[in-house]
Amino acid sequence: MQFKDVVGQQRIKDKLVEGVRAGKVHHAQLFLGDTGHGSLALALAYAQYLNCQDPGPMDSCGQCGNCQKNYKLIHPDVHFSFPIVATKSANDDQDPKTGFYGQWRELIQETAYPSYNEWIKKIGQGEKQGNIPISEARSIIRKLSLKSHQGGYKVLIMWLPEFLGKEGNVLLKVLEEPSPATLFVLVAEDESQILTTILSRCQVIRIPRIAPADIAQSLEQVFATPPERATQTAALSEGSFRRAIEILQSGEDAFFVNFTKWVRLTFAHDYAALHNWSNETSGMGKENIKNFLIYSLGIFRECMLMKTGIHSLTKLVGQELEWVRDKFSPNIAESGLVPIVQLINQAHYHITRNANVKVVLFDLSLQISKYLR
Ligand SMILES: [Zn+2]
Repeated sequence: MQFKDVVGQQRIKDKLVEGVRAGKVHHAQLFLGDTGHGSLALALAYAQYLNCQDPGPMDSCGQCGNCQKNYKLIHPDVHFSFPIVATKSANDDQDPKTGFYGQWRELIQETAYPSYNEWIKKIGQGEKQGNIPISEARSIIRKLSLKSHQGGYKVLIMWLPEFLGKEGNVLLKVLEEPSPATLFVLVAEDESQILTTILSRCQVIRIPRIAPADIAQSLEQVFATPPERATQTAALSEGSFRRAIEILQSGEDAFFVNFTKWVRLTFAHDYAALHNWSNETSGMGKENIKNFLIYSLGIFRECMLMKTGIHSLTKLVGQELEWVRDKFSPNIAESGLVPIVQLINQAHYHITRNANVKVVLFDLSLQISKYLR
């Protein structure tokens, strides 16, 4: 991937590129930070930049043969190491992770922000503890002793060196005295779990949280998230792009389902069911309810756009778009939209000021039902 595909982290990107351009690439670097902050994504973009045949001042070209191979994770000089669940009696002369490489490529092509659990689930080893076995460490030494295929850098990206046991110490020699144009990038989350012998030989680069504004921008660009929701999601993401996507994916569906139910009950003026709905929804927790109200505002705003014929501005996609365009928007009077938006805004304000959530939601439902027939 290119640096431009990595969310935020401009300061780190600049630092990495500067190092390459100044010919100062420390041969053993440890990217330390939550994978959701983009530590692995940065390592991938870094390896691609180092091997690019036509690198620019900010980024790899994305076009050359090396970039193409890096996109597909098949560059012969860029190696990966990651925790696996070793099969019994693994022969030291075999590369034990050969069988996992396909799954690794699949994972990284799905997301450059994976979690360990996601990986272990992918290789079908939910219950077992992964590790980076001695045979893998030996295989790394062998690979890095070979000549570079393309005449550029040989890079080894080790994801989660925390899983390297004491046997990992066989790597110390190559970490100390690497062959020329060789780079180790260790991508770690928990400093305290790394062999101190390894840690002490690496230049540590801390990968901080991603700025919420950068996450929001990516959510808008990549997932076509409406700006308000993108901002809200980013604010809740703790600087992790991965977490933001999780919130978006779970929240979006849950909010959509809950919203359509709410609207159906208000249209039907089913007050008993609305009372139950208010009780249920209040159980989502205050922050979620506020997000739900913001989500609802978004949908009513989309309705306004459609009512005024500005379909091109809509940010909705998929089932939400179909539902709002075909079912919801045609059945709601334009005159009701402004008061409904005001009512939801008021409800949001009252919840922020610690009003009783159940009462606010039920009252809101009753008032909105006046405008929905
Ligand atoms: Zn290139």
